[in-house]
This record gives sequence, C-alpha cells and structure tokens, in this order.
Amino acid sequence: MSPSAWYDLFLFLLLFALYVYVFATVRITNLHKVYFLFHFFMMLWPLCQFAIDLTDDPRLQLFDVTMSFVALSMLGSGWLLLTVFLTGNADKLGKKRLFLLFAPAVIAAVGVIMNPFNLFVAPLGGGYVDRAYGTWFWMVIVILLSYFFASLSVLFGALNSSKTSPMIKKQVKITLWGIFVLATFASIDALLNVVLRESLPIIPGLTSLGIFLSALFFVYVIKKYNVFDLVSIAHEDVINTIPYGILVLDENESIIEVNKALRLFIDLNVGDYFDMETFLGSVRVEGSSKKFLSHYKQKENTLSQIEIIAQRDIERHFILQASPIVDSYPMQIGHIITFQDVSQERFFVKEMNRQNEILQERNHSLDRIRNELSTANRKLEELVLTDSLTNCYNRRYLTQQLTHEVITNIQYKIPFSLILFDIDYFKAINDRYGHVIGDEVLYRTAQAVKQSIRGTDILARYGGEEFMIYLPHTERQLAEQLAERVRLAVESNHILVDHEIEQVSITVSVGGLSIEDFDHEHVPDNPEGYLIQLFAAVDKALYQAKQNGRNRIEFADFQNVSFAKMK
Ligand code: GH3
Ligand code: MG
Ligand code: MG
Repeated sequence: MSPSAWYDLFLFLLLFALYVYVFATVRITNLHKVYFLFHFFMMLWPLCQFAIDLTDDPRLQLFDVTMSFVALSMLGSGWLLLTVFLTGNADKLGKKRLFLLFAPAVIAAVGVIMNPFNLFVAPLGGGYVDRAYGTWFWMVIVILLSYFFASLSVLFGALNSSKTSPMIKKQVKITLWGIFVLATFASIDALLNVVLRESLPIIPGLTSLGIFLSALFFVYVIKKYNVFDLVSIAHEDVINTIPYGILVLDENESIIEVNKALRLFIDLNVGDYFDMETFLGSVRVEGSSKKFLSHYKQKENTLSQIEIIAQRDIERHFILQASPIVDSYPMQIGHIITFQDVSQERFFVKEMNRQNEILQERNHSLDRIRNELSTANRKLEELVLTDSLTNCYNRRYLTQQLTHEVITNIQYKIPFSLILFDIDYFKAINDRYGHVIGDEVLYRTAQAVKQSIRGTDILARYGGEEFMIYLPHTERQLAEQLAERVRLAVESNHILVDHEIEQVSITVSVGGLSIEDFDHEHVPDNPEGYLIQLFAAVDKALYQAKQNGRNRIEFADFQNVSFAKMK
C-alpha cells in the first residue's frame, strides 16, 4: 500500500476518535446514546457485506468479513442494553453488570478479529466471498443467542411486572416483535447460507433485511411513544424523583401511575384497583373521612384534602389531596392524588407543645414557690414587727411608723396623741405568782387594751410591762377620754390565773401627750431625734402619774415639749 493510504487511514482514525469523544460527552440521555450505538452496529453489517463483493483482494475481504461479524457480536450486547433501558431498568445497571453485559460480545469480537488457525473463517477458492465458517463462528452464534434470550427475559419480565406502566408495556411488545424478526432472518440466513451451503445456492442479504425490518419496529416505537422526547423523559424523571407521592387513577379507579416516593410507603401497583374508602379505612385519619369521601365521590368535584397517618416501620403523616382529571367536555376521567409527607412538621408541632407544657408546668411551680416565699416573707415581717408574748406590735415597728407619720402630721397640721402606760406594782405579781403567770397577765392586759381602742390606733409593747398607743387624728380632749377608757379596761379586767382558781386584778398608770397646736412649728429635719423628745415627754408624764399615786392619767403640758429646729 502507498504511504498516502496510511495517511488517509490515520485521518480516518482521528476523525473516528473525535466522533467517539463527541458521542461520549454530548449532553443527551443515556437512552439516546445506547440507541445510536445500537443503530450504528446495525448499519455496519450490511455495509461490510456489501464491501466484501467490491474487492478481489482476499485481505480486504477478510477485513470486511471480520468487521461485519464484530458489528454483529456488538449488536447482541446492544439489544440487551437497549431492552434494559426501554424497560426502565437502567438504574439497576452498576459497573459490574455493565462489564458482564459487554464481556461476551467483546470475547466474541476478539475471536473474530484474531481468527486463530482459521477457527472463525477460512477462505474458499483463494478468497472470502466464498468462505467456510469454523468453530468460533458457532461460538459467536451461541453468544448472540444468549443475548437474544437474555433480552427476551428482560422484556417478558417487564411485561409481567405490575410496576411497569401500561405505556412501557406497549413499547416492549413492539420491541419484542422487532427482535423476533431480526432473530428469524438471522437464523434463516445461518441455516440456508451456512448449514445448507453445499446443497443450496447462496441467498444474499437475509440478515441485512432482518436488521432493517427490526430497525423499522424500533423506529416505530420511538416515534409513536415519543421514547426520545426529552419532555416525557424529564416528566418521568420528575415524577419519580419528586418527594411527594403521586397516584393517577382512571375513571374506573384503576391505578395508571404510581411514583417511587409513594411505593416506598404504600403497597400500590399499576393496574390495581384503588378504592379510596377502603384505603381510608386502613389508615388513621385526622378529621372527618365521611366529609372527604362525599366530596371525593361527587361527579363535579373540586380539590379535596385530608390528613392521614400511615404506619409502616415508623408512623408517617401525609396530607392527601385528590383532584379530578377532566377532559375538554368537561367529563371527569380520573383522579390525581398526591401524598405530601408532613411527618417532620407534625413532629415539631408535637415537640413544641410538649416543651410548652413543660414550660407551663415550670411557671406553675415558680408561681407556687413565689407564693410560698411571699407568705414566708409576710410571716417573717410579722415576726420582726410583732411582739411574740403579747401579739402587739413591737417598739421597732412603732418607731418606724411614727418616724413617717409625725412628720406628715406636722407638715399637714394633723393633730395626734401618744399614750404610755405601765402596770402598777408588777414586780409584786411576778413575786407572788411567778413569771409564767406574770407573762399571762401581761398578755391578757394587752388583749383587754386592744379591745378598748380604735382600729386605727396602734398598740405596741414599749418595754417590759410598758405599752405605748399612737392615736392618729386625735386632739388632747379625745386622747384623755381614750386614756381613761384604757385605764378602766385594765382595772375592770379580772384575770383568772393558776388553773382558774385565783383572780388577779391590776391597774396601770398612764402618761399622755397631744400635739395639736402647729402655729410655731417647723417640720423637723431629724425625725428620730424629734421622736426621742416626744417619747421622753410622755415618759415624764407617766412618771408623774406614778408619783401622783398610780392608777391615774397625767398628760404632758404641750409647752413643755421643745419643737426647736433640730439637727
Ligand atoms: P411600778 O411600775 O408601779 O413602779 O412598780 P413595778 O413593780 O411595776 O416596777 P417596774 O415597772 O420598775 O418593774 C417592772 C417589772 O416587770 C420588772 C420585771 O420583773 C417585770 N417584767 C418585765 N418584763 C416582764 C415580762 O416579760 N414578764 C414578766 N413576767 N415580768 C416582766
Ligand atoms: Mg410597773
Ligand atoms: Mg415598768
């Protein structure tokens, strides 16, 4: 051969490499690629058969025979691959299976190319137009038959599977015819032109005709069902990858389509009858299924919705929406039912409610603790401000109250009085009856005085057996009357002591003080100091009462109290 012939071959190989590169990387679906590969091998057979007769050079004839049988070997794997894609089983093809699928075809092709000891083909009469096939030829035929049966099993498997949609079943049926026609013609070719070669004249082009006719079947399927239509491929993809469950029913409630997402949770197959009422009976329903069903069954219904809870391994919540499919008349011809998984949302709502309950419970216990605390505080305050023996206020409380009140009284010129009384000869009571009874007498005396004063007056234990009464809004005249009431109350209070056997009667001496003339008064800057002066004055009056014979009342002379501005 001349060097320019090699040059052309080199260019051809480069162009072929480019073709393979574009084919492999172009963005079309794998189904497209598989079909075009398959079609390419189909075309190669008749072309090479034709080329054999074009030349007298036995080497070229051998090359053409080899090429046509390489194409035929690959055609077998092409069939199988195409059927796998057509039946929607492509996703089950891993790398390992893909390798296994092509391996026999490649082994067959290698044997054909090597042709060791003319095991595949031997020339007759010096050339390959007439040729004798050897063992490897039959090996190729066996491999082709294996592919043929494997394809048949894939196609019949799809036909019998409930998961195959009716549309794909129709495509599979036509494809089966195509493969059947091809196999028939190839078999007749092998029978007549190989087995009976001696006794019959060669009939050319039988396999080529079979290939052509089967290609017509494939093209018919592709055109009629839009197999290569990207929109319908995308539609199928979307339906099967969408997270919603989708169920399509015809007018007889037969399932036409059920997508992968739904099949994961509910056992439904294409062709099954789907009765909504039975279905709702098999799951838990939130709300009224009666209302939903009556709406669903109406002739002219619109979209209806219900929430269901289906249990399979785990509990799942779905929002089921049913909408009618109507034709142009408009007549209802089916239903589309979607299942939206809302389990996570429901879980979060449940969890939020649970947390809310816990929070509320904590709030309640906090409230309880707060109430307990404020009760305890009140008790503590009482303990701090009251005298435990007599249940009267103590001196601390009296001083606190008076510190505020006397200032306000002077500021607004409100008269007030103070009374201080001391039990007469109390030491003698203690000496005679003991301290316990002395305490009892103290308590009873305090109770008797409490009864005799007004609700607004404040009675406080001032010291051992001395008590002070603050009389708000009280001028001297009224204060004297009230002091007399106190004195009388004590005097007439006969206290039964020592297991109620003996009666004790005591008297008190009373000192009083009234502030009622505010003409020359300043508001004192030092209320505590002012209070000490008031107490001293009233104490002095009490002392006077003791001096003057006890069981009597003495009021301090108003002028005796100094109201000079104090620092
Ligand atoms: P008078 O006031 O009339 O001058 O005579 P008196 O005997 O009452 O004298 P004074 O007021 O000075 O004495 C007070 C006595 O009161 C002294 C103390 O033993 C007694 N006393 C003070 N506090 C208590 C108390 O809480 N319980 C009892 N049982 N006795 C008390
Ligand atoms: Mg006394
Ligand atoms: Mg005393």
